[in-house]
Amino acid sequence: MLNIASNTIDKIGNAGILGTPLQAFCFVNGFPMSLDGEKVASHYPYVPPHVSSTMQATSICTHVNGIRVVRKFDLSTCGDDLSIVTNQFCFSD
Ligand SMILES: [Zn+2]
Repeated sequence: MLNIASNTIDKIGNAGILGTPLQAFCFVNGFPMSLDGEKVASHYPYVPPHVSSTMQATSICTHVNGIRVVRKFDLSTCGDDLSIVTNQFCFSD
């Protein structure tokens, strides 16, 4: 089981997952659950593809609006993984 990620506070390296949350009714720790395809803020080394990547969720069991939730260690399209997930009590496959 892996921690479900939330928009705004969970991070790849030192960059937050930003952009517009893809949904606004399922929350964890008070922040919207992060979903497949969500934009990632520009982060080190600040060159393509790290300036405009999106999350690639792999959860099989947990979806919001039919879209997979992002979990710890899921990869961004730039190849970096979601290393910092603050939620410690809400998990998915
Ligand atoms: Zn990256």
